[in-house]
Amino acid sequence: MKKRLTGILLILCIALTLLPIAVFAAPGDPKASANDRYAGNYLNLDASDNADDNKTNTADDNKTASGAVTVTESAEAEEAEINNKGGILTITGMPVTKYDAAMNAKWQEISYSKKKPLDLNYKINKKYTYKKYEEFILNLAKYDYVTVYNMGKTVKGRSIYNIEIFNPADDTDSSEVRTIMINAGTHGNETMGPHAALKMAEDFIKRVQKDQTLQEYLKSVMITILPCLNPDGRELVYANNNLLKKSNALGIDINRAFPSINAGCLRIGNANLIEVGAIEGDAYYPGKYLGSAKEVAIAMKWLNHYVINKNAQVFLDLHQMGNGIYYEKPFSTDSHKLKQKNFYNYLKGILRTKGSPVYGELFDSTVYGFDGKGGTITDYAYGVAMGLHYSSQYGRQAVLIDDRELILLDMDSLNDYADYIYPVNANFVYATIEMTDNSKYKGFSSLALNAQLAHYNKQNYNNLLMNLIKWTLDH
Ligand SMILES: [Zn+2]
Repeated sequence: MKKRLTGILLILCIALTLLPIAVFAAPGDPKASANDRYAGNYLNLDASDNADDNKTNTADDNKTASGAVTVTESAEAEEAEINNKGGILTITGMPVTKYDAAMNAKWQEISYSKKKPLDLNYKINKKYTYKKYEEFILNLAKYDYVTVYNMGKTVKGRSIYNIEIFNPADDTDSSEVRTIMINAGTHGNETMGPHAALKMAEDFIKRVQKDQTLQEYLKSVMITILPCLNPDGRELVYANNNLLKKSNALGIDINRAFPSINAGCLRIGNANLIEVGAIEGDAYYPGKYLGSAKEVAIAMKWLNHYVINKNAQVFLDLHQMGNGIYYEKPFSTDSHKLKQKNFYNYLKGILRTKGSPVYGELFDSTVYGFDGKGGTITDYAYGVAMGLHYSSQYGRQAVLIDDRELILLDMDSLNDYADYIYPVNANFVYATIEMTDNSKYKGFSSLALNAQLAHYNKQNYNNLLMNLIKWTLDH
């Protein structure tokens, strides 16, 4: 019996030693084939079969078997439990050099020697090229309380901007500042987000110029609006009116490509969702590795900067598919789920006018995060707010337990490891707003643009920023 156990242990120890290499493709190793990763998958299943034997062995047996592993019984059991969850990564992680480059990217502040703004009036129902759209953004930089940053360029050379609205006083304590974040235009065909984001920014900025109460609020509440994250995708839709075009110029779906803790995690027994494409140009292609798209790298820095350094409390990501609101990650902690539910209730209350429909709840499937999907901008933002560590081993976010890094495949949900999670902003809440329901509202046809304008008014978007300030001050 002892001999048999030793034999099993030897196999187990080899399996556990190989696990990090075999099950998880090393970040930045595009050569690792799907077959290699599936081979790792079977090793993991072997470990699972022998879990009971593993738990009953003594530390002494361990020593005999491997000569190197000397763990206590409880640590050994924990190790077995963690590894036995198992699965494969369907997307290679973001190499640490690329991660560092994204974090160290420099933003260019837009400044003018003569600061008198033109009295432009952005119209949602007018068809503007991105070049023209850019003129509206740049004009906003001339107003008081506004700083516009060029955060970097796409592969087609189009700039991605960040409109920051703030009124720091001499005695502003930077640790007390809290931030509201809005992102739009991740998907090229979903044109309403960029239209609404720029319209609300312009109207709000004009109002701030003469409203002293707002100026006072802006001493402690900062607003940052990223009005169009995927200008190349937008322009492709503008040129071809292809209402199915979501991706960037390289065929990457930006919203499947963030190095979040759940990105491309496929749990044993689950099927890789058919919608996650492995081919460039597929609707949901995530790129060769996480964060390879320039837009993703730019948004990562934007999120890290405001969520960590500027204490972001609210993050809205504007989309256009489903006429409702996503507000819950199945894998998040229970305490955070409660906050999210409260925020959803608040949002649905403010995003309507008298008699207009209420945005309903939209949910990801219960296996979301274990179905090879994941890697959205809100997945990543949530991880940043929860203080997750960037793992160079996995090329994505991980929970750090002593010197171990756990990604979602190693656990059932973050809730099981809540004691090891140290949020940067415990109050941080997010929502993905699917602003409209069907393709009638997408693209640039005059029918779509007029429908978007009507929807903007009906759903009270013009008062969204005011109401988000109220939420931020109250929490
Ligand atoms: Zn979308």
